[in-house]
Amino acid sequence: MLTRSAYLKAPWQFEIRQVELPDEPPYGTVLIKVEACGICGTDLTAAEEKAKDWKAFGHEVAGVIEKIGEGCEGLHIGEKVVLESSSFCGKCELCRNGRVDLCNKAPNFWKEPAMGFSDYMMAPACCVVPYEGLTPEVACLAEPAGVAWDMVKTADIQMGDRVCIIGPGPIGLMAIPLALRSGAEKVVCIGRPGNENRLELAGQLGAEPLLLNSGFLEQEELYRQFDHVLMTAPVRFLPEVFPYLAFGGRVTYIGIGTGSGVIQFDANEFHFRKLQLRASHATPAIYYPIVLKLLKNGTIPGDKILSHTMELNDIDKAMRRFTEDKGSIIKMAIKP
Ligand SMILES: [Zn+2]
Ligand SMILES: [Zn+2]
Repeated sequence: MLTRSAYLKAPWQFEIRQVELPDEPPYGTVLIKVEACGICGTDLTAAEEKAKDWKAFGHEVAGVIEKIGEGCEGLHIGEKVVLESSSFCGKCELCRNGRVDLCNKAPNFWKEPAMGFSDYMMAPACCVVPYEGLTPEVACLAEPAGVAWDMVKTADIQMGDRVCIIGPGPIGLMAIPLALRSGAEKVVCIGRPGNENRLELAGQLGAEPLLLNSGFLEQEELYRQFDHVLMTAPVRFLPEVFPYLAFGGRVTYIGIGTGSGVIQFDANEFHFRKLQLRASHATPAIYYPIVLKLLKNGTIPGDKILSHTMELNDIDKAMRRFTEDKGSIIKMAIKP
């Protein structure tokens, strides 16, 4: 069968292709009719510099099961599903020792000819998580919400902790209610000029929004004020936020952004102040049942996070909008 499928190549080249999918899904695979797919920071860095060759893209997928291959017990045609952007195998040593969060042996759907920005795509059955009671546009937030939850969980926020979230993007914003529900006494969310919309939403979500007009290091009133910094800005800024940590504080970061990942900091000061640095990388993409529940009960207000919807044929325009009027967009979903 034929399907439309969006491809990208750095810098900022996009194509909608007609590609061929097998008529019957192979063993262990389902055919998904895509209903919505979110645009992610990963897609933007791929478009900016990472995708050296043409690639299919889109990994925040909500859809309906159209056909089921053999060996996919428990799934049903017509079922609404979201896709784990990577799953776990359940068989390797790490999985068997209870650390499915560390598995990278499971099959995934990151391959040609079609991913989430398409009409139809194939996905391994292990990635498929049924849902109900949400629109597809909000349901596809399960993937980034899982990233936000992985960050908050990795940080291990305790009752009464003071939390500073750097970057009011979708992940940072979704982390606000998650941090508060985890026991944070106060959450400050910091953003740069141009992010006023996002900071306003940060305030609605229960954070104290803070517009940063100069560098991180110039905010001396923030020095030593936080038990946690959750960093969603590029990693090169990490050393500049270490002074925000109180004695014994912890920075947890997600590694998005372009450019070098090399940082320099004073390890002696880090040691004597008993600071900690933790990386959150939500691969495998798990916790979907939890975040789907939080999207449904409004703890994560999906309709506020999802600010824009555009059509697949406009993928080029949709991606470019993030460079042109980034501030007005919080999260965008593409509908076929
Ligand atoms: Zn994503
Ligand atoms: Zn495994």
